[in-house]
Amino acid sequence: MSAAGRFAARTVRVKAPGKVNVSLAVGPLRADGYHSVASVYLAVSLYEEVAATSTAAPGITISLSPESTLDLDDVDIPLDSSNLAYKAAAIMADVSEHATGVHLEITKRVPVAGGMGGGSADAAATLLACDALWNSGLSREELAHLAAELGADVPFSLLGGTAVGLGLGDELSPALAKAQTHWVLVVANYGLSTPEVYRTLDRLRGAGGIDAEEPTGVDPQILAALRGGDAESLGRVLVNDLQRASIELAPALRDTLGIGESHGAIAGMVSGSGPTVALLAEDSVAAAALAEDLQRYGLTALPVHGPVPGARIISDTLL
Ligand code: ATP
Repeated sequence: MSAAGRFAARTVRVKAPGKVNVSLAVGPLRADGYHSVASVYLAVSLYEEVAATSTAAPGITISLSPESTLDLDDVDIPLDSSNLAYKAAAIMADVSEHATGVHLEITKRVPVAGGMGGGSADAAATLLACDALWNSGLSREELAHLAAELGADVPFSLLGGTAVGLGLGDELSPALAKAQTHWVLVVANYGLSTPEVYRTLDRLRGAGGIDAEEPTGVDPQILAALRGGDAESLGRVLVNDLQRASIELAPALRDTLGIGESHGAIAGMVSGSGPTVALLAEDSVAAAALAEDLQRYGLTALPVHGPVPGARIISDTLL
């Protein structure tokens, strides 16, 4: 092969965090079919990784890494153009002058359909990886705009840390809360569909004659507790409007919350639309002990902490 024809492949590897919603207020069903939310997002130390490798052949391909900690036989992840990472690469290719073909290898660690934004983290990681791979030179702000087109949780995985999300959850303001809180995530071996959880909430509200209000902001006590890393105060103000709908669809979640609280969790809540449950612990030692106790019940329990930074490049290699 001539030197001119030789293709130098390059791999950019990016990691991006999953999230828990420390608070999630959900408004009524809007005429456009969406719900406004007011939420406090916390990026936690459970990361997805995307390795984007340039390919001589055009197009986007996806595979799942054997390094994934999820049991890949159990989960339903599309590897075609409906994968959020594929959509992210396609958007980046559209705006990049020097786009090539790309292969995305995804290391899955965030539970699928678990309410922790795993697919969104893959999309955020892919945006950043392709930006570097193709020298697109987009600013974080420009990437955040593209992220919002992909889904409401994608901009937060780029940003990381702690943030208040309004609108559809994509109007983000960093909350500058740096103190760490410690959690145990109890991962279910099934998923819940986010749209179905919202539909169930609307149905339960309708049946109960509850008129939900448009959320306008978040409880300042939540932000104060996060700023101080004060787990006891935070435990008193955790709230998730979707929780009762998730429990309606998966009643076992009530047991998981009960087991967590009876084994020393300060408080527990369903994360986002569930079915992952986030249990708040006093500190890292308590979180490790709680996770061990829950594992004895046969539960998959992972100690994590947050806030952690958003999507970032961990290596950039010429092959
Ligand atoms: P969110 O809280 O953002 O709604 P989630 O964390 O509950 O999301 P995901 O794991 O992001 O759920 O995925 C939900 C569904 O999206 C999956 O069932 C899967 O079919 C589809 N999907 C598309 N792209 C991906 C991806 N990269 N990883 C996992 N699932 C994906």
